[in-house]
Amino acid sequence: MIFTDKKESPSCGCATQVNAASVCPQCHQKGSKVEAVTVQSQLKKEPLSNMHSTRDAFNFCTNPVCDTVYYADDGSESFGQKEIKSKVTLKNDDPKTPLCYCKKLLKGDVLAMIEKGEPDIAEKVKAIIANGKSFCEKSNPKGTCCTDDVKNFLAGFGISWEKPKKQMFSMMPPSSCCSSSGCC
Ligand SMILES: [Zn+2]
Repeated sequence: MIFTDKKESPSCGCATQVNAASVCPQCHQKGSKVEAVTVQSQLKKEPLSNMHSTRDAFNFCTNPVCDTVYYADDGSESFGQKEIKSKVTLKNDDPKTPLCYCKKLLKGDVLAMIEKGEPDIAEKVKAIIANGKSFCEKSNPKGTCCTDDVKNFLAGFGISWEKPKKQMFSMMPPSSCCSSSGCC
């Protein structure tokens, strides 16, 4: 278990990424550590049964242009997208690729909001992500919370994750009327 190094994310309570000790054997960039439960949940049956490394010896390649998803600490073994059950947010442009795996929010869902010109997309996405339970260590091939990937995806369309301050105060009803005490 490698929980001790991790800090809780403020977004959904799931663990945040921990840097890998070794580099990806294909792209030579340093990825992030994944837990055995993630590898076990994400690998397809055949590669999982043929794997010779132990399940807790793997890292996730965070390079968007590298096909490798998991690689062993010693570089002796790696698995690409074809051997993983989920489409990887960082590595796949298919609209059916999830942005949030736990809540089944797809890239296509957000693209549809953008196409329709919907207002407050970031707020809507935040509400979807915050609603219900998260189990990122099993559902997300990265093994951690999706928030950073969602933020980056929206930023690619010029949508800011943080709400601009000037909008925070508008549209508030006067506090003197209609309070919970039932004056109306
Ligand atoms: Zn790589």
